[in-house]
Amino acid sequence: MSVSGCLETDKVGAAERPGWQVELIEEVIHLLASALDDRELTAATDLYEIECRVQKLFRRLGAVLTAKLAQRAAAGCPRPCCPGCGQLMQVRNQRGRHLVGTTGEFILHRSEYSCRQCGEAVVPADELWQLGREQLTPALQQVLARAGAEIASFERASELVGLILQMDSLTADSTARTTEALGAVAEQQTQQSIAASEQAREAPDDHDPAALTVLIGVDATKVHAGGCWRDAKIAVAVPLGAEPVPCGKHDRLRLPLGQASYCAGIEGADAFFDRLRVLVRQAGWQPGPQAHLLLIGDGGEWIWNRADHLRQRQTEVTEILDLYHAREHVWEVAHALLGTGVAGHQWGEQLCEAMPAKGGAIVLAALAKLRPRTKAQRELLQKATEYFQTNLARMDYPHYAQQGWPLGSGIVESACRLICGLRCKQPGMRWSVGGAQNVLSLRALALSAAGLWHNFWAGHPQTRRPALASLTIPQARHDAA
Ligand SMILES: [Zn+2]
Repeated sequence: MSVSGCLETDKVGAAERPGWQVELIEEVIHLLASALDDRELTAATDLYEIECRVQKLFRRLGAVLTAKLAQRAAAGCPRPCCPGCGQLMQVRNQRGRHLVGTTGEFILHRSEYSCRQCGEAVVPADELWQLGREQLTPALQQVLARAGAEIASFERASELVGLILQMDSLTADSTARTTEALGAVAEQQTQQSIAASEQAREAPDDHDPAALTVLIGVDATKVHAGGCWRDAKIAVAVPLGAEPVPCGKHDRLRLPLGQASYCAGIEGADAFFDRLRVLVRQAGWQPGPQAHLLLIGDGGEWIWNRADHLRQRQTEVTEILDLYHAREHVWEVAHALLGTGVAGHQWGEQLCEAMPAKGGAIVLAALAKLRPRTKAQRELLQKATEYFQTNLARMDYPHYAQQGWPLGSGIVESACRLICGLRCKQPGMRWSVGGAQNVLSLRALALSAAGLWHNFWAGHPQTRRPALASLTIPQARHDAA
């Protein structure tokens, strides 16, 4: 069938189809025809070869379509007024801009305007298309940033995206730059939210939020950044359902866990709790008498000392010592004072089993009966006793269980592994502090409850990418040493 024949039989008759569409269709058909003339495409026999070549052809067709549609959208841009003096600006010239996108590589021609009075120059089409300074399109930047944040290394991320999109030109370097730069935008946005929430702290909300219980787990893990191992603080916030459901393993009713959201910071405890407060709000919680926070931690003072950061406007915060950490302390004492044999094992096992039903008092009673023989044993026992005394009020496990709350959590530890361990602690990874923070911030967004990543992208972060000079790519890129 001839090209014109194709046009006559399509749904919109050739007569009513606008001229630019007819031209576009002819251009695409011409490209397709010349691709079919190419022996390499038609002579391929194995399906893998055929598929890869067709996908590359799609990228050439996609480039033509994308460029045409983008240019048509920009043709409707009104003549801009000078940002300096307000006068209508004049077209200075037409300039092509080479872009690499998910649909192909193309050159966009757009008008550059200048002001005769003050010499200002603008390109309205670039703003319309939400292009930043980069050669990558917004869509490809999103794909690279997401892959760079989610996949274990920049090399593997660029390899995977290249494979999926059949692009040979992607490099680990451009993936690293895109991920870190967009991570820097995410981090900057978080800091702005923190500053804004400081100002709004005392302002009352317009609406009454629904009653909501949010579980918050806080812990720290190590990351090699800026030449040494540093603490990366990690938090997870999970809203709990209102109706308890049976939990098979322990045969008790538990409030179901909602979708988790995360944050991570290589920073001091106060700054981190500011970050956490913003996260908890984003996770759907508003402070007030109906809100109830359950703060689960490992017993670290830095966590409990800052529970007040989360207590705002009569919000109730219940502090819970993670049952598994409490059990680890029991086992430490058992092995040091009673040995790793049967005696130590039985003592530890009995206490650990009894803790959910009896709370912390039973541990303190058992510790009081122990008779240390060495100085080291005495010191350890003293330390453990203080630990359980300090945390006694946070070990009311029978009450927590009755409410359907978790007693401890895998979720805190799995959050450390998920957010930091799997991405920033692959063998040989050495980061700059800024590079690690940017990637952690972006990864936390990518893995948080549906909506956070979407909201971030809706704000066109690619237009606010910081200049590359301020980034610290070289150190962060050494994924494998
Ligand atoms: Zn002007």
